[in-house]
Amino acid sequence: MATPKLLNWIELSQSALKRNIDSLRKLARARTVAPSLKANAYGHGLPEIVTMLNHIGGCDYITVHSLEEAIAARESGWQNRIMVLGPIPPGCYHDVIDHDLEPAIFDLTTLRELGKLGDRKGIPIRTHLKLETGTNRQGFTAEELPAAADLYKRHRSLGKPYGASMHFANIEDTTVHEYAEFQLRNYRALLVHLKKLGIPPRIRHTASSAATILFEKTRYDLVRPGIAVYGHWPSKETYLSYRLQGEDNRLFEPVLTWKTRITQLKKVPADSFVGYGCTYRTTAPARLAVLPVGYYDGYARSLSNRAYVLIRGRRAPVRGRICMNLMMVDVTDIKGVRLHDEVTLIGNDHHDRVTAEQIGDWAGTINYEVLARLSPTIPRRIID
Ligand SMILES: *Cc1c(COP(=O)(O)O)cnc(C)c1O
Repeated sequence: MATPKLLNWIELSQSALKRNIDSLRKLARARTVAPSLKANAYGHGLPEIVTMLNHIGGCDYITVHSLEEAIAARESGWQNRIMVLGPIPPGCYHDVIDHDLEPAIFDLTTLRELGKLGDRKGIPIRTHLKLETGTNRQGFTAEELPAAADLYKRHRSLGKPYGASMHFANIEDTTVHEYAEFQLRNYRALLVHLKKLGIPPRIRHTASSAATILFEKTRYDLVRPGIAVYGHWPSKETYLSYRLQGEDNRLFEPVLTWKTRITQLKKVPADSFVGYGCTYRTTAPARLAVLPVGYYDGYARSLSNRAYVLIRGRRAPVRGRICMNLMMVDVTDIKGVRLHDEVTLIGNDHHDRVTAEQIGDWAGTINYEVLARLSPTIPRRIID
């Protein structure tokens, strides 16, 4: 067998991505679907996801968090709209114009500086006014809106806000959606306020994945799903709420598989300790496989002695602590294991699978964090 070159890599399925986007389009009924590519496209790799979205076609918008991500998306070949959800660093306002970006606006300084620059250059700027409805993270309150309205009126380049948006605080974590209803009422009231102030938005958008999946009335003119684009449910509660509506559960398919290879096989006697801290001790002679993946790559140290990986479709439990660049798994009972065998860290192998959700449970976190922490240094490959 030829020695494989890649020892740690991520495979991305374009057909899964297309299926997820198709499902979201169906849910959103003709509204624009704006996939979120923040956090390196939820750990999948921003350039690769841009490439795949361009192949799939039909997406007018993406959202990102930072200016850097927006510029990376342009450099990767994204020519449609980009909404920037996070702050624009002072001194970088010209980038908004140079790269044709649409910033979310949640403070007066950014709005003023963009207005001045746009006026000076004679270039209109599309902004999305973020409204505070109960998340208390970003957003204008009713009291702050008149000052924003003044700036829109003072600066020709700003025109009227293109969008008015909000973000739900408590839609994934519960099956009781009273707080989301409360936020929606606040949103509607603020939209009325914007109209009275003479700055009604062209489009309205509120929905992340969970809202897009669960609530028709949150979908407005555009939806901003993230996690579901990549084939993951936002939470067990969202899944449960959706199933209770009696709907089909096969909406999404994970885009990402994370793989490595066995780089060493060894026999250790009974009563041997494994790894740092001597946290695991064999009770019988064991066969261990060493894998070239550690917490540097995003395989959390909290998975020590808790998780399993898949080899030849069988479960190999993690033994001892996850190291910075290495980890050990037990392959004693897996027949036919050989050096350089493929190992699935996240994904399907034969009839079994390890999901980002399962890893999140073991690590005491959520699928979002498991995916977002996958190191950008791991090579990504588009497989179909
Ligand atoms: C991240 C984000 C989203 C997408 O959230 P998901 O739960 O991943 O769908 C939508 N809107 C805003 C403002 C966000 O920050």
